[in-house]
Amino acid sequence: MRRHALTYTYLEGSSVQPVRLGLVGIGKIAVDQHLPAIAANAGFRLAATASRHGQVEGVDAYAHIADMIAVARLDAISLCTPPAGRHALALTAIEAGLHVMLEKPPAVTLSQVEALVGAARTAGVTLFATWHSREAAGVAPARAWLLDKRVEAVRIHWREDIRRWHPGQEWILGPGGFGVFDPGINALSIASEILPHQLVVESATMDVPQGRASPIAATLTMRCGLAEVRGEFDFLQTGPQDWSIEVDTDAGTLRLGMGGALLQLPGEAERPADDQEYPRLYERFANLIARREIDVDMRPLQLVADAFLIAERRVTDPFIF
Ligand code: NAP
Repeated sequence: MRRHALTYTYLEGSSVQPVRLGLVGIGKIAVDQHLPAIAANAGFRLAATASRHGQVEGVDAYAHIADMIAVARLDAISLCTPPAGRHALALTAIEAGLHVMLEKPPAVTLSQVEALVGAARTAGVTLFATWHSREAAGVAPARAWLLDKRVEAVRIHWREDIRRWHPGQEWILGPGGFGVFDPGINALSIASEILPHQLVVESATMDVPQGRASPIAATLTMRCGLAEVRGEFDFLQTGPQDWSIEVDTDAGTLRLGMGGALLQLPGEAERPADDQEYPRLYERFANLIARREIDVDMRPLQLVADAFLIAERRVTDPFIF
């Protein structure tokens, strides 16, 4: 059993009760990002966790979501499990009348996401499908800058070392694990947010290691209006890691680096900024709950689903972590 410590920010003298939150799937992202962001947000109190192996010190722990919901008094659930299986977890929470926040990708099929939206509407609860990379510091200014530009070409490079960032995560190359599109969908979430026209998929290639279900490398050709958008996704990148998007326009080339954290406009220096992705996601979740709203944008998942529909597949050497 793995235990993790938590220090809270309190709502000093406030009459507003924090949202009592249940966190499901205490793995890498829950520990690295969700726990610190929840602890720093006075609008939330971590009331319980559901995870088979992970626990948070001083917080009621359950192995399964149904047990947690039956016993703990909760207002909302945040799901940090892998995407396969998330639909059933989310539906369990929605049908119990709880607000739900989903890690990306929101589910493994489009029909699952649509069904969750319908269920949340019927139950009158908030459903928030997060895209954490859209909260990176450079994304909103990039979108604003591109609004009145003519896009001529786009290059996406999303290359990282699976062994460094996802050690032992066998699920990621399994069915519904998305493979290299687990990080790659972050690039598509940014591109679909900042580009002024809808992205459409034209062609794709996927390299799938022998004996695995999901790709370890892929290329995508898309269009944004008439401009070509090329994506290269690689999970076997050693040396410098590269999560960048370059947009050629009639006013020069915009460059986003470090997964959207660094913005460089033509003729300007890079604008570095603090990582505030998860604090912003929880701030937004609190606002959505206050208004009982649903925030689900399926476009990044649609692009990946289209790539899987059209891709030319190659079987490559077996991969071992
Ligand atoms: P992870 O380290 O494998 O953790 C996922 C946790 O979910 C596990 O610790 C496990 O906890 C639980 N779980 C429930 N069903 C599972 C199953 N069938 N297989 C494996 N674990 C299962 O994964 P992660 O990196 O945190 O990723 C989780 C989600 O966050 C993914 O959708 C990913 O795209 C997203 N995300 C990850 C990162 C990152 O840097 N890793 C960044 C942003 C977003 P128990 O065994 O205790 O039940």
